[in-house]
Amino acid sequence: MIDFSLTSEIDNVRQRTRAFVSEHIQPLEDDPDNYDEHENIRMDLCDEVRAKVKQAGLWCPQVPKERGGMGLPFVGQAVMYEEANYSIFGPVCFNCAAPDDGNMRVLNQVGTEAQKEKWLQPIIDGTTRGAIVMTEPHPGGGSDPTMILTMAKPKGNDAWVINGHKWFITGAGVADHLIVLAKTSDEHRRELTTFMVHKDTPGVEMIRKVPIMGPEEHGGHCELKFHDVEIPDENRLMDVGRGMKVVQMRLGAARLTHCMRWLGLSKRSMEIAQDYINVREGFGIKLADRESVQLMMGEMAKEIHIGRMLVMNAAWKLDQGDFARPEVAMAKVHCANMLHKVVDTAIQLNGARGYSKDTILEWIYRYARQARILDGADEVHKMVLASTYRAEGRDFWSWGS
Ligand SMILES: Cc1cc2nc3c(=O)[nH]c(=O)nc-3n(C[C@H](O)[C@H](O)[C@H](O)COP(=O)(O)OP(=O)(O)OC[C@H]3O[C@@H](n4cnc5c(N)ncnc54)[C@H](O)[C@@H]3O)c2cc1C
Repeated sequence: MIDFSLTSEIDNVRQRTRAFVSEHIQPLEDDPDNYDEHENIRMDLCDEVRAKVKQAGLWCPQVPKERGGMGLPFVGQAVMYEEANYSIFGPVCFNCAAPDDGNMRVLNQVGTEAQKEKWLQPIIDGTTRGAIVMTEPHPGGGSDPTMILTMAKPKGNDAWVINGHKWFITGAGVADHLIVLAKTSDEHRRELTTFMVHKDTPGVEMIRKVPIMGPEEHGGHCELKFHDVEIPDENRLMDVGRGMKVVQMRLGAARLTHCMRWLGLSKRSMEIAQDYINVREGFGIKLADRESVQLMMGEMAKEIHIGRMLVMNAAWKLDQGDFARPEVAMAKVHCANMLHKVVDTAIQLNGARGYSKDTILEWIYRYARQARILDGADEVHKMVLASTYRAEGRDFWSWGS
């Protein structure tokens, strides 16, 4: 049965994460010199905070303890990530930011021991970073991965040669370890395979960093080309034709951890609004005492709470070994739109101050817009929900056991 009370271990992690963020991370947001060209925390500063995170035992919550992480279940991650993203710099300092959060999780799930040592452990150790390389410009694969045109052709029995064009690859400007999705056959549902490629392999070309409207992860969003990139067969993840499986395993959990982080940003936005309306007066009374303002605050609280319920439900199902596909889709659509709505309302309640760079609201507002597109646009998730309901009928609403 779902039980929303936290274990003492998870509640302890929640409290320690909250204290760490407020002491070591949040104050860094105030100094413009602490930001890099991505509007993210400067890398050298990030490394300093990461050293403190490791000492505090809050490093890599999603990774098993025996590999140097915290080994938290999804429910525990939901609790911690929300606290971590109370600061815009939080997740990357705990090594639970996209894309490495999802990359580490999937490499741990599908990699062989040798692959984990080579491709996963350095990301866990924080000595390198990874990127997930799927999306292609028109006419290649985006929302529909079966349209992927990047080809991997076998060379003899123990090598592959990759050719293709990818874009919007988060973090590729600093990532060494690329998880690349490529077409290996025309067989329906088994056309794709996933490979590990080191960015220094001959033939990997960085074309440009795609400029975007909002703040971004270290390394930006890159456009890459693969020209006759030769890699050994030992770099293949899972069997030939199992690329969609790898991607589904990666994206299912990664979408949910996005939601966990967005909840943190939403709660912070609401608090910034509350702080302002508590003191700001107009027309004889405080804004916080105005019913129309209270309706806006109540709406934000309700939206955030719905998001938390959806996330906890999906996290709990994942912890039971369920893929939780519809639950994750619902959480993703709701939390993406909730973040956008909450930060928009918080800006409105802060008046001109909300539109300024004196608070982080404008940063969050620009960042929020991507949420409704990346890792599956809203419409695609709703399409999945509709087709699941169509197939399951009344069973769609079962509570599980
Ligand atoms: C900030 C950011 C970071 C990203 N990081 C990565 C990354 O690290 N690696 C990576 O591989 N990709 C990444 N992406 C790409 C992202 O996953 C794709 O943008 C997303 O899957 C949508 O694909 P597309 O952009 O090709 O949109 P398209 O497939 O061209 O779709 C365009 C629009 O059409 C509509 N649409 C599409 N399909 C349907 C449908 N079935 N029903 C109704 N409407 C539909 C939607 O509104 C959609 O937004 C990133 C994108 C962003 C914005």
